[in-house]
Amino acid sequence: MRDQYGRTVDYLRLSVTDLCNYRCQYCMGPEGVEKRPHGDILTVEECVEIGAAAAACGVKKIRLTGGEPLVRRGLLDICRGLRAVPELEELCLTTNGSLLPQMASPLREAGVDRLNISLDSLRPDRFAAMTRLGRLEDVLAGIRAAEDAGFTGLKLDAVLIGGFNDDEIGDFLDLTREHPWEVRFIELMPMGPCAEWARSCFLTGEEILKRYPALQQIPAGGVARRYRLPGAAGTVGLISPLSRDFCGQCRRIRVTADGKLKGCLHSREEIPLRGLHGAELEAAIRAGITQKPPRHHLTDRPSDTPRTMNQIGG
Ligand code: SAM
Ligand code: SF4
Repeated sequence: MRDQYGRTVDYLRLSVTDLCNYRCQYCMGPEGVEKRPHGDILTVEECVEIGAAAAACGVKKIRLTGGEPLVRRGLLDICRGLRAVPELEELCLTTNGSLLPQMASPLREAGVDRLNISLDSLRPDRFAAMTRLGRLEDVLAGIRAAEDAGFTGLKLDAVLIGGFNDDEIGDFLDLTREHPWEVRFIELMPMGPCAEWARSCFLTGEEILKRYPALQQIPAGGVARRYRLPGAAGTVGLISPLSRDFCGQCRRIRVTADGKLKGCLHSREEIPLRGLHGAELEAAIRAGITQKPPRHHLTDRPSDTPRTMNQIGG
């Protein structure tokens, strides 16, 4: 279905939990997320019902996210339920990868088509410092487990942070020489804990192109500009929501773990979906698509949303 600006909206990012086993410094505080009563979070059945209703409104791709989706109880049931929705063409999941060693095969069997794995540093000490609770070796084992389980076209997502990991860009690019992965650099967005970070933390994708002129441009994939090192097995993606916002091509809607539909990651407007069923639920989703804001205002001011990223799902 199209929104009022003529954009086709066919992609839903569905947050299945706001909890996480990491505490990434740009995403949440050291104390983590205040645990809410179970009843505040969408049930397995509600997740599937919302996914099916979105598909009836033209959504073809759903990405499960969080928080960390792999800590969500009932995740595999959500995957199986969504996989059974006939109109849905693609079921994807974004994860910090730490629980993939045990979860990759079950996810594959439950019908997940593709995985994005977040990985901000290839150095164990930095990785531990940024995630506060994470171990790099778990994520590397998770990547291997994903490949062993039969996932192909893996995407590794690194948030680019000046003074933290910009001296590792070359190491990330080197990964693509031998592995058929897409390493994607995402511009840090000013929201939650990082809203007030120094300007120098916010690097642009252009900076990468300046430093690595050998990168050859290839056709874009969704909102990512794509490149390849000569002869490399894998590819490189630049996701630049700040320096080259892609709002004009945005095809997404989002549903938070507590069941609010958001037309834009950065806007305050939310439509509550809980308690709605059938035609009413579809009507609310259609309204959310129609009212999708034309663009965000991150270049003028921090994100308008009072939510942190783990509550929305990135
Ligand atoms: N826990 C999972 C993970 O980390 O992949 C899924 C949820 S996480 C919120 C989704 C993505 O958002 C991650 O790749 C994370 O690095 C990214 N993210 C979180 N806060 C961000 C920010 N302020 N700017 C840019 N990306 C951010
Ligand atoms: Fe957890 Fe993902 Fe946020 Fe890191 S970015 S704290 S892994 S939800």
